[in-house]
Amino acid sequence: MKLDKALGLLREVPDFPQPGVVFRDLTPVLADPDALRAVVDALQDKIHPDTEVVAAIESRGFLLGAALGYGWRYGVVPLRKPGKLPAVAHRISYDLEYGTATLELPTGSVSPGQQVVVVDDVLATGGTAAAACALVERAGGVVTGVSVVLEIPGLGGRERLAGRSVNALLAL
Ligand code: IMP
Repeated sequence: MKLDKALGLLREVPDFPQPGVVFRDLTPVLADPDALRAVVDALQDKIHPDTEVVAAIESRGFLLGAALGYGWRYGVVPLRKPGKLPAVAHRISYDLEYGTATLELPTGSVSPGQQVVVVDDVLATGGTAAAACALVERAGGVVTGVSVVLEIPGLGGRERLAGRSVNALLAL
C-alpha cells in the first residue's frame, strides 16, 4: 500500500482526552495489515543506518518499535511510564500543558556508545521525545534521531528537539 493511503486511515477524534483537543488516532492505521507495513517501512527508510537500538515510547511507540526491531534487527527498549519497570536506570519528569509526566529507562537496556533511535506515534510539544532523548543520553547512548508517524506542527515539538534529526511521515 502507498504511504498516503495508509496515512489516510488516520482518524481525528474531537474532544479527546479533553474538550477542545483533537486527538490524532493511529489505531485504524495499525489495524490494517498493509497500512501497518507501509508505515513501518517508511519509518525505517529515515532511520540512520548506524542505529542499533529502538527506544520506544509507551505505549503506541511499542507497537512501531517492535515491528522495526524485528524487521531490521534492532534491539527494542521500552521507555515506560512510572511504576511499570522492575528495575529503573534513569527517570525524567517533564512538564505537560497541565501537570507533569515521567518516563523511565530500564536498567541494562542501553549501553554507553550505543546508537539509538527514539520512536513514537505522535510528536506534539516534543516534551515526551525530548525526555526520551535525555534518558538515552543519561545511559550513555547516542541518539541517531527521533522518528514519528505524525507531527502536529505549531506546538513547538521540532524547536524543542533542535539539533536532532526529527523525521515525521506526516505533519497535520
Ligand atoms: P508531546 O510530549 O506533547 O510531544 O506529546 C507526545 C506524546 O503524547 C506522545 O507519546 C503521543 O503518543 C501523545 N500524544 C499527544 N497528542 C497526541 C494525539 O493527538 N494522538 C496520539 N497521541 C498523542
